[in-house]
Amino acid sequence: MTTRRKFIGGLGAFGGLAMLPTEMFPTLMAMEDGAPPTEYKIQPLPYDYKDLEPHIDEATMKVHHDKHHQAYADGLNKALAGLAAARDKNDFAAVGSLSRQLAFHAGGFHNHNIFWNNMAPTGKGGGGQPSGKLADAIARDFGSFEKFSAHFTAATTTVEGNGWGVLAHHTGLKRLVIFTMMNQQLGPPVGTTPLLMCDVWEHAYYLKYQNKRADYVKAWWNVVNWKDVAQRLDAAS
Ligand code: MN
Repeated sequence: MTTRRKFIGGLGAFGGLAMLPTEMFPTLMAMEDGAPPTEYKIQPLPYDYKDLEPHIDEATMKVHHDKHHQAYADGLNKALAGLAAARDKNDFAAVGSLSRQLAFHAGGFHNHNIFWNNMAPTGKGGGGQPSGKLADAIARDFGSFEKFSAHFTAATTTVEGNGWGVLAHHTGLKRLVIFTMMNQQLGPPVGTTPLLMCDVWEHAYYLKYQNKRADYVKAWWNVVNWKDVAQRLDAAS
């Protein structure tokens, strides 16, 4: 049970489930109690490190996934353990700091689970334009796909410092919204479920693009996995 829980937790709330053939992971569908894992673990990418070339390079994917994402998982587990220890000892002096660490690392862990699955190799699920319900919602809420992509690119490219560009479904407003998020957690409107996230921390692009973030964001569109985005909209709405 522990192993199964760890595995499922590593996928995030829904990130990755739709991408992975269930026959590879028979225990996934057998999990019925919905309990969280005792320890969060990162999962392998749904493609090879080099498969997003030439848009996102192999060296960046390796360090981003194996080192940065791992550090967020470690930080999340550490914050949760610290909070559990505080409750056990009835000593809540560090709860303010631990709560901030939890928000940051839970964001880093979950955002990257979405980010990896939001991408696919160009021509093998990555790139092009959305279709169906997602395309209709984008046209309805942003005017056209071209207006949407220009809006998302502008928002994402101009994030100050580290952060993310996010396309989300807003449950309360019943529409798609684009917002930017600072760090891993600051700024998302309450009521939103992320559908598409573009990481603009320098670790996401600096090895290949250096200071040219706009070039990275422009290239990133070539690896967007619209099927994954559409599945997230279906789940959210
Ligand atoms: Mn990142």
